[in-house]
Amino acid sequence: MINFNNPHFTGKEIQYIKKAIKSGKISGNGKFTQQCQNFFEQKYHFGKSYLTASCTDALEMAAILCNIEPEDEVIIPSFTFVSTALPFVRMGAKIIFADSQADHPNIDARKIETLITKKTKVIVPVHYAGIACDMGKIMNLALKHNLMVIEDAAHGIDAYYISPCSQEKKAIGSIGHFSAFSFHETKNIVTGEGGMLVVNEDRFLQRAEIIWEKGTNRTEFIRGEVDKYGWVDVGSSFLPSEITAAFLFAQIEMLDEIQKKRVALWQNYYNLLEPLSAKGCFSIPVIPYFSTNNAHIFYIVCNSPEERIKLIDTLKSKGITASFHYQSLHKSKYYYEKHDGRELPNCDRFSECLVRLPLYYDLSGEKIKYICREINNFFK
Ligand SMILES: *Cc1c(COP(=O)(O)O)cnc(C)c1O
Repeated sequence: MINFNNPHFTGKEIQYIKKAIKSGKISGNGKFTQQCQNFFEQKYHFGKSYLTASCTDALEMAAILCNIEPEDEVIIPSFTFVSTALPFVRMGAKIIFADSQADHPNIDARKIETLITKKTKVIVPVHYAGIACDMGKIMNLALKHNLMVIEDAAHGIDAYYISPCSQEKKAIGSIGHFSAFSFHETKNIVTGEGGMLVVNEDRFLQRAEIIWEKGTNRTEFIRGEVDKYGWVDVGSSFLPSEITAAFLFAQIEMLDEIQKKRVALWQNYYNLLEPLSAKGCFSIPVIPYFSTNNAHIFYIVCNSPEERIKLIDTLKSKGITASFHYQSLHKSKYYYEKHDGRELPNCDRFSECLVRLPLYYDLSGEKIKYICREINNFFK
């Protein structure tokens, strides 16, 4: 059986966890946490980074930092995971769901402006499959209408947006006011559950570290800036333990190697499936000129929902686990009644026709050949 996902372990995780245990300090915000945060800040020119227990938590911190109030409107794509919407819903905001592009699951930046009202406070672009949204357009809209941008970069580690004007490469996660990453076991680098908030504007830093540390100024205390610490704001226990951070440090040491292999495997799929796509059997991912490819997901989009079901079943009978992805959030049981009724046809099509193929570090080129051969047989 070829699994859909196998988390990759680098072999150093236990060693670093032992080191954390030996140090006697296993709660959050210790040495490993700081080493991981420094790594990301330096490698990707992020603002201040805070490890969190999940990407959902990082989004929750961002929502608090944006001062979301009841009746505020937040624009998010409907083709995403529930976590993109949850923090804003919990603070009473109304979610304005946006459609995907016709040729890509990412939010259609050209159509966002029609959704902006006086109540709009935040746009949350999701970089689906690690492909950058049109951040130039989105940041311009934010500037023009005085909005905040929170990048849901759960898929976006080691991915870049390339500015069409200057050709400057900017890491996904370094562009919006805030961004949220995930180290869930299904992502490119993993800690089981885990995430990170990036804060790209200094004016939010003081409040961010307080919210991170349960509404206290404990971090100031640790730095020796105050002689005792106490309750100063809202917050929660957003920081992960040093055990998780130690695990993450082992993963990031191997990040470049993991990425190189994933990109090669992704390209294998692309080359082997391109001929069928050219014949119109399905479509393969489009990488826009302003984005790199971090090989988070390889997917194909079938021509009909019926064909997708048949394909997934056929692959399963050949020992291959392929998987659909998000269900349109605007049609979900929880939000359907609250949605304003607009149709989002591109989102629905990706919900009904997209198939993700197995992609992980320990997959081989041989297995990909086998998977593509079976896909070829199906469409014969
Ligand atoms: C995985 C994922 C999340 C949630 O990540 P967790 O770390 O599990 O909280 C949020 N948004 C998107 C787009 C995701 O794929």
